[in-house]
Amino acid sequence: MAEDNFPKQTTIDSSKLFNIRVWEGIQYKFAKDLGIAIKVMSEDGKINTEESNFSDFYNILTSTEEGKKLCEINHENIDKEARFITLYADCVYYCASTYFYGKKFNIFVGIKERVSNDLLVKQLAEKAGVDYAELFAAYKSQTVFSDERLINIADLIVDLFNIVIELSVQEYITHMANKEKEEEIAKMSALMEASIIINSTRNLDQLLKIIMQSAEKVMQAEVSSVFLIDSERNELFFEVATGPKEDVVKKIRLKMGEGIAGWVAYTGESLLVPDVSQDPRFARRVDEQTQFITRSVICVPLKVRNQTIGVVQVLNKIGGGSFSKTEIKFLEALASQAAIAIENANLYEHLEERAEQLNKDLKNANMNLSIEKLRIESIVQSMEDAVLAVNSEKKIVKVNRVAERIFSIDGGRAEGRPLEDVVKIRDLRDNFTTVLAVKSITKTEVKFQMGNKEHIFAAVFAPIIDEKNEAAGSVAVFRDITEIKELDKMKSEFLNMVSHELRTPLTPIQAYSELMMVRNVDNEKVKKYADIINRETQRLGALIGDLLDLSRIDAGKGLSLALEPVDMNELMLTVYETFKNASTRHKIILTLPEKSEIILVDKNKIIQVMTNLLSNALKYSPDGGEITIKTWFDDKMFYGSVKDQGLGIAEEDLTRIFEKFFRVESEKVKKIGGTGIGLPIVKYILELHNGSIKVFSEFNKGSEFVFNIPKVKPQEDLNG
Ligand code: ADP
Repeated sequence: MAEDNFPKQTTIDSSKLFNIRVWEGIQYKFAKDLGIAIKVMSEDGKINTEESNFSDFYNILTSTEEGKKLCEINHENIDKEARFITLYADCVYYCASTYFYGKKFNIFVGIKERVSNDLLVKQLAEKAGVDYAELFAAYKSQTVFSDERLINIADLIVDLFNIVIELSVQEYITHMANKEKEEEIAKMSALMEASIIINSTRNLDQLLKIIMQSAEKVMQAEVSSVFLIDSERNELFFEVATGPKEDVVKKIRLKMGEGIAGWVAYTGESLLVPDVSQDPRFARRVDEQTQFITRSVICVPLKVRNQTIGVVQVLNKIGGGSFSKTEIKFLEALASQAAIAIENANLYEHLEERAEQLNKDLKNANMNLSIEKLRIESIVQSMEDAVLAVNSEKKIVKVNRVAERIFSIDGGRAEGRPLEDVVKIRDLRDNFTTVLAVKSITKTEVKFQMGNKEHIFAAVFAPIIDEKNEAAGSVAVFRDITEIKELDKMKSEFLNMVSHELRTPLTPIQAYSELMMVRNVDNEKVKKYADIINRETQRLGALIGDLLDLSRIDAGKGLSLALEPVDMNELMLTVYETFKNASTRHKIILTLPEKSEIILVDKNKIIQVMTNLLSNALKYSPDGGEITIKTWFDDKMFYGSVKDQGLGIAEEDLTRIFEKFFRVESEKVKKIGGTGIGLPIVKYILELHNGSIKVFSEFNKGSEFVFNIPKVKPQEDLNG
């Protein structure tokens, strides 16, 4: 996934990571009970607890501003190597250190035994402006500890500190993970909703409105709109606008390049404008006309087959503030759903236009035969859609090449014969009958058997109206949409699966994070819970990452590679480390070439490939067994293989498993969760690297996935 995508894992902001508050409470109590001084300071000085010191000496000394300054500790002045350190006056502390997430913490525990030093106390009293006699008495009665005792107590404090900080870090990570995932899940569900709606309604206006409303809801935007490009006039017009100003807004047109929307339509690039008043591209005139006040905008292009056909825009974050960069991706994903809706609507519109045109042409052809007829004949014959025309008596007058094929008829012989003798599909005959009777266009779907498979066709039946306004015949145009329909079906199964898959890891995350918050959980358990949470979060992250990758690929944007020199053995070891203890039923074996090589790949994406293949190997061998990871090189290629002893794949499914949303239709596979998007992404990533993947499998014995990547050495270039 590109760097600018949603974060796949929780990113840790270390300044927020350490909830030092909890520790401060413990430090205070410990210092008070033991009569010992404690202070914690991170080496960079950013985390710095106030010294817990209950001695009268410290109290008197810090009772004045000057005195406080004398007791201040500057982390830069601390000798990093020394174990015993004088922090102020002659107060020597034992300094223990510990590390967390790359941060070094010094824990100072004092005070070490010493010989009385009258002169020093006198000078201190003067500088701090406190009573000398009082300070001296306090100095003498200060609790001091032997080296050994200081070290012992410090060890104990370090242990305690480790536990408390680890807990607070885990708590923070869990909190962040939950929060982040919740937001992403809301976004994903909105996307899913959008595609479910697209599958279930054909009213474009209504569809776009619903999609926009879901964008507003998730992004907390005040209003939103969809513009389409009128390419003849080089202008944008509002196709859909929500909000109270809808009617005024819909009358406005923008020139290409004018305003934020015009800019996005022109460049084809998404744009986030946090404050439009600061952006010269913003078209004030629209606000003036509508009396709406625009503050912030996200605008993304609406692309169909890589061509910008319009833009989608959301305006003004509710409650002020601005939209975030990650929301651009979300709106882009929604826009690609909207584009599908527009495409779907267009499919019918085009068919309709086709039918009307043909109808006209046929009519003309009847009038002046010869040349014109030949011309139309050739157009009709070369069309990709099936054309079938009948006269008013329902005798066939025209069958084109595609229609011959799909209805298995011979055009030459069919023409002139009654439709019902030639075409046995009842639905189709009924539709012709209806159109001839009502004399208006009918759009519908017809299903019929072709070979041993039922095909679905989008069909438009148009009447041929003669000069007397009678139906002289009817022409029908058919387009095979079986594949689209199948994809639709797979997609809705996929959506159900995804919502299930998204929820599954959330349950343990919630349960274990609650368990972690309970008091008195021992450190080992905390570690165990954190491991589980971490694993589930990663799973969730990987799934969401895959979904987002898929929607990028779907939207025609593709994924970009961040190539870097990678030591392939090292990479495989990293993957192996993550998986080696993933299951107790499986044994994971890693076989690497003796000599590793460094090649140019996108490290994270290859990890994604391996993660997908290994998760599949684990998932689809429910009875356990060996999983072998093997890699090798030849002159030109790097090869990787992941082999399992699991369910295997039946021969007829072997070619299909790399298709989007495809899952093997068996009870065993159904029981195992999955979405059917892992392998298509694996294949896509490998192809981006100019590599490929193959599968070898025997049903009920196991599967092996073997992939290769051309060895591009760091000095070469992928395209070169
Ligand atoms: P998912 O696992 O989420 O269903 P994938 O795209 O990763 O999606 O896999 C597609 C299908 O290929 C799976 O549903 C499964 O039927 C089959 N498959 C993938 N890997 C294996 C394997 N190692 N053994 C058996 N079947 C597999």
